Amino acid sequence: MPTIAILYICTGKYEVFWKNFYESAEQFLLPGYRKQYFVFTDADHIYNDTSSSVHKIYQEPLPWPYPTLYRFRFFKSIEKELAAFEYVYFFNSNIKVTRPVLPEEFLPLNNEELVVTQHPYFWNKTNDKFTYERNPASAAYVPMGDGSIYAAGGLNGGTAKNYLSLINTCNDYTEQDLQNNIIALWHDESYLNRYIIGRKVKVLHPGFLYPAETTIPFEKVMHLERKQDFLKGFGKYTAEKKKPWYHFFTSLFNKN
Ligand code: UDP
Repeated sequence: MPTIAILYICTGKYEVFWKNFYESAEQFLLPGYRKQYFVFTDADHIYNDTSSSVHKIYQEPLPWPYPTLYRFRFFKSIEKELAAFEYVYFFNSNIKVTRPVLPEEFLPLNNEELVVTQHPYFWNKTNDKFTYERNPASAAYVPMGDGSIYAAGGLNGGTAKNYLSLINTCNDYTEQDLQNNIIALWHDESYLNRYIIGRKVKVLHPGFLYPAETTIPFEKVMHLERKQDFLKGFGKYTAEKKKPWYHFFTSLFNKN
């Protein structure tokens, strides 16, 4: 039976998404595959954590954007376990799989190096509008004109070997920037987008990350829950996030 490691982060209040994600993935994702879930969380218990397919890894809850920025560091900490799988994929916490997802459409079966998902808000934009990191001092820097798709951080994967290379390189990018007091504009997503430039990738259409807030002309394969609906009982989660203008001004100051 082919194997896939599923990387999932749910620190703090994001634990509310786990049950829906897990149940929908069990029902629909790659039927017939052996799925093992690696869940980075501070929760004492998560739904079905007594199952032998759910591996809970303690991760302290960090302020935004560190739960997502440090993802490559988290993943690197279990690289030995991940190397034993055929495939490794990361899923955003608020994903719910809505129909059967088959190997041909989802896995890199045509020698692609990686699989990424086209961002649901950028599929109809030209590359000058992509929110790549434009600060030349950042390891995530993408010069104007480069890059043909803008990938979402929310869903990506590949063979274990190739995804582990991505994890290691993107972790190096992140650490290098931190040494220079830089955090790329969209955190892990900026490093991912830098990494895929010039590589052969399979591109999943934005219906694999179909946002609850809008309508896009793609089949809904995976639904992205509206975070506000789940997190509103937990206080002002959006206020913790830095707004784009903040990143814009810090990138000006960070220029060498
Ligand atoms: N996340 C988390 N705890 C937090 C914030 C974020 O576990 O307090 C993880 C979670 O996996 C989430 C991912 O980081 O899906 C990305 O964060 P978010 O969904 O808020 O950002 P977006 O994908 O909307 O940019």
